[in-house]
Amino acid sequence: LRNEMEITFDAISVNEAFARVAVAAFVTPLNPTMEEVSDIKTAVSEAVTNAIIHGYDSEFDRENHREEKNQVYLHCIIEDDVLEVEVRDKGKGIENIEQAMEPLFTTKPELDRSGMGFAFMEAFMDDLEVNSGPGYGTSVVMKK
Ligand code: ATP
Ligand code: MG
Repeated sequence: LRNEMEITFDAISVNEAFARVAVAAFVTPLNPTMEEVSDIKTAVSEAVTNAIIHGYDSEFDRENHREEKNQVYLHCIIEDDVLEVEVRDKGKGIENIEQAMEPLFTTKPELDRSGMGFAFMEAFMDDLEVNSGPGYGTSVVMKK
């Protein structure tokens, strides 16, 4: 089976649940186990939450008086029984990706973030790639 889908949605927290349910529904033709579905939902949730709270944070909003809405781009491909999910934002980007991916590293301790999002994505998926830069935003590509 080869299948592909793309969804663009507003970067607001209610859409976190929407994104994880959409990906879970998309993988059902692969007959995943409940554990696999739960792992994928957790990873998608973490990536989408990051796009919303870090990519498009208040600092980014202040500095970018743009016409464009803050949106999250979700792109999924199924090929040879493997799911590839990309979660992308056009927000502020990550300055130091290596540091950001370290467990317990967070730039928002005041918001009670624990710095475990990337660690969960890495643990629950088989492959994780992060691309990011100022002016580009952040793209997280995960496979399972
Ligand atoms: P938690 O996920 O446990 O609530 P967290 O979001 O801070 O805490 P991670 O998800 O591991 O932890 O992300 C680590 C850091 O990477 C964030 O604090 C933030 O600085 C940066 N980051 C992650 N995703 C993005 C993004 N999409 N845009 C900009 N910065 C990001
Ligand atoms: Mg996070």
